[in-house]
Amino acid sequence: MAGLGRLAARAALIAVCALAAPLCLAQSFLDKLLDGARRATDSVQRLQQTTENFSEDQEREIGRQWAAVLLGAAPLVDDPELQRYINQLGRWIALHGERPNIAWTFGVLDTTAINAFAAPGGYVFVTRGLLMRTRDEAELAGVLAHEIVHVTRRHHLNAMKSSASMALGADLFAWLGQRAEARNAETTRRVVSGARELLARGLDKDDEYEADRLGAALAARAGFDPWGLPGVLQTMNALSASDSDAALLLATHPSAASRLDAIGPAFTPELERQPPRIRGSESYRKLVGSLRARPVEGGER
Ligand SMILES: [Zn+2]
Repeated sequence: MAGLGRLAARAALIAVCALAAPLCLAQSFLDKLLDGARRATDSVQRLQQTTENFSEDQEREIGRQWAAVLLGAAPLVDDPELQRYINQLGRWIALHGERPNIAWTFGVLDTTAINAFAAPGGYVFVTRGLLMRTRDEAELAGVLAHEIVHVTRRHHLNAMKSSASMALGADLFAWLGQRAEARNAETTRRVVSGARELLARGLDKDDEYEADRLGAALAARAGFDPWGLPGVLQTMNALSASDSDAALLLATHPSAASRLDAIGPAFTPELERQPPRIRGSESYRKLVGSLRARPVEGGER
């Protein structure tokens, strides 16, 4: 990367030289340019080290901004019993995961869009559109377990290290260093728009496959039938790209068919042996049933 950066700086300098020959006679100008490129590389490396070491409070602070973006796009379904249920179910599953002690927060977003989202620090949202397409509690548990793995494996924080998101990462680094009241509105706006960009672009394919494999195993450890998650992937496989409710999900994830192939290795003989298997509950049937009769607050999209 550093070598490429220097090459790019030289190429840029050659272009500048063609336009302004007198400037290029001064060697120090070249040194300054290359020095600037080196400094940029150093700060990128510092940032990469830093994102590995965010404290849980910092992760939570980033997650709070992301949650605000999601809640700005669609409100929570106005049903306290449903929100309590999704929190109890999600926290139960998260207790069996790699980071049981973070402050997990779950919610159902009131939109017909079919999707689920995780944000750093333990925020997980499932949309009403996806919830209503699950056929039982084991399928919902599979969706939540997949999102929980994105958080426990810090997939979103890792995505910030990718070059396309580097500007966001640098902003984030500065933003976290400031006290809440001192935070510059412009930087906060950029952090939020960066979150939007990552949410719209989606995660790396391998992170999605990992969340599927580990999610199926996590759901099983929490007592659910691990075949719930493949069941949801089968439903997704039948979605049409022309269905506007499915558009963002399909654009930001690998195809459901490839995910069904990749989840296979999760179903080890050991996993298959684990009893007992919850498929449904009375709470699920009652709450998802009443959701079908409720008008959509967040609008159709
Ligand atoms: Zn995912």
